[in-house]
Amino acid sequence: MPCIEEMAMRFDLLTIFPEFFQGPLDHGIIRRAREAGIIHVHVQDLREFTKDRHRTVDDRPFGGGEGMVLKPEPLFEAVESLLGRSLGDASTPHAPDPHTAIVLMSAAGKLFHQGMARRYSQLRRIILICGRYEGVDERVAEHLATEEVSIGDFVLSGGELPAMLVMDAVVRLLPGALGNEASSQNESFSASFSAVKPSSAVVREPTGARGTLLDFPHYTRPADYRGWKVPEILVGGNHAEVTKWRQHKAMEKTRRNRPDLLSQE
Ligand code: SAH
Repeated sequence: MPCIEEMAMRFDLLTIFPEFFQGPLDHGIIRRAREAGIIHVHVQDLREFTKDRHRTVDDRPFGGGEGMVLKPEPLFEAVESLLGRSLGDASTPHAPDPHTAIVLMSAAGKLFHQGMARRYSQLRRIILICGRYEGVDERVAEHLATEEVSIGDFVLSGGELPAMLVMDAVVRLLPGALGNEASSQNESFSASFSAVKPSSAVVREPTGARGTLLDFPHYTRPADYRGWKVPEILVGGNHAEVTKWRQHKAMEKTRRNRPDLLSQE
């Protein structure tokens, strides 16, 4: 029998602000998944891999310009230490392990989406590299990270929130992480648009979330709140009608808020 630690999916968060993760790792589904041994999380302080007295992780950019850039040495050495093996050099690069993703959080990366979360949830291990300042020496993106990932078209001040966001999206897809197994199968970006409208020839993954629908609207008690009533059909108890209504509303909401998901371009 493999021990729990071996079965757990492992996350390593590489950061200059290890304390940043104290709140996010200690609440809700992520906390439960840790406690249940579904995931194992290690927060690695990048500064442990510096060699000078000031524990320097950054330096000025070649070519001039504003700000500072995270140096390659501490990042390469930290990841190699986490993996327990060398990644080689320009003349003898070592092949990556297909069960491990080394993800550089970057505004200039590929856009994160539910399909990516699903792919990551099949892995044994994810190392999330959090940038700071003006970013990270490009050799990290080219020769250390297996992928460079952005969480959206905006610039944040660090990769810690993006890493946490990616981790959250992945963890809730792991078997046993959600109390109710059904809940991750029936939400935004899970149902195929073509399942609702079979005649359509919409392309699904890997193009992103395109071809999927947003969630349908949810209601709970009271049935009448300040005169805003819950739609009659949901109170009626006709399951077939409810399903039809939900599909219709999911489509309507997708068309209104995210028409790009339905476009065939
Ligand atoms: N100069 C960079 C921004 C650096 S922001 C640029 O223009 O693209 C500092 C760090 O924050 C980045 O290295 C990255 O790790 C993180 N970051 C900022 N925005 C992000 C986003 N949208 N997605 C993922 N990481 C992001």
